[in-house]
Amino acid sequence: MTTLIDGNEVAAEIRDGLADGIESLKAEGTTPGLATVLMSDDPASETYVSMKQRDCEEVGINGIHVELDADAPAEELYDTIDDLNADPEVHGILVQMPVPDHVDKRRVLRAIDPVKDVDGFHPENVGRMVAGHARYKPCTPHGIQKLLEAYDVETEGAEAVVVGRSDIVGKPMTNLLIQKAPFGNATTTVCHSRTKDLAGHLADADIVVAAAGVPELVTGDMLKEGATVVDVGINRVDAATEKGYELVGDVEFESAEEVAGKITPVPGGVGPMTRAMLLYNTVKAAGLQTDVPVDLP
Ligand code: NAD
Repeated sequence: MTTLIDGNEVAAEIRDGLADGIESLKAEGTTPGLATVLMSDDPASETYVSMKQRDCEEVGINGIHVELDADAPAEELYDTIDDLNADPEVHGILVQMPVPDHVDKRRVLRAIDPVKDVDGFHPENVGRMVAGHARYKPCTPHGIQKLLEAYDVETEGAEAVVVGRSDIVGKPMTNLLIQKAPFGNATTTVCHSRTKDLAGHLADADIVVAAAGVPELVTGDMLKEGATVVDVGINRVDAATEKGYELVGDVEFESAEEVAGKITPVPGGVGPMTRAMLLYNTVKAAGLQTDVPVDLP
């Protein structure tokens, strides 16, 4: 029997688990605040940001939203970040990526005060995570670790394959899986666009994290019987639906489900966890900035 990993359910538990921390902060006069900054006309980015704002509202985090014209000078974005860094009501800052080409993305990541960097992408936070004392774990891989925990997936000594080496998913996921820490200790292989034999690596994998952005790249015949399969991909493919497209993952669900022991669906798997972990990091950030002890789920 294949177990469906329910990201909506685990995400709801995390969100519920943040309530105590938010209450402790409010009792000390602090409402956790998350600023989202959007400098893009991309409808998908607009949707992501509005979902993040709605999530904040639902759990009692103060959502602050700043929107800049996509063709505004880059300085406007850097100045906005400076203002948010200085604002004591803002504990977390998230600049929605991608930013326009005329903006220096690396400068943006470095401009955010590391203590407010709830995405965990500032070089200081990346370094801390790699060194094994993370301040903020990046939301998607952290959410995946929480899913592995919730579904009792044994990572210690397991063979794990991460498909994808991006800075936001593949690399930090790999790093968390190899840490000498709970839900780490896996023997981890990273596959990417130059990997010669993806199927050969997947054949031995007890845990697969697919984050390539390639629709249905991983199929059931590549997987080991009983593997845990975590599908990060969110790909729009043309379909005869009202919207003209449907969302599919990087895993071909129908064939993978036949072989996997545990598997995440798309949607309803990793996506809700990414959102929940942003709230988690924001509450943690508010605690760090106010010295109020907060219990985190
Ligand atoms: P990315 O494009 O930055 O990176 C993709 C990685 O996949 C690259 O490192 C590349 O080397 C590798 N790759 C590409 N083709 C490959 C192939 N044929 N075989 C093996 N590796 C291959 O993407 P990303 O930002 O890491 O996102 C990956 C996917 O996850 C996208 O579909 C994205 O929309 C989705 N995503 C989902 C969430 C979520 O919360 N569910 C969060 C972030 C990203």
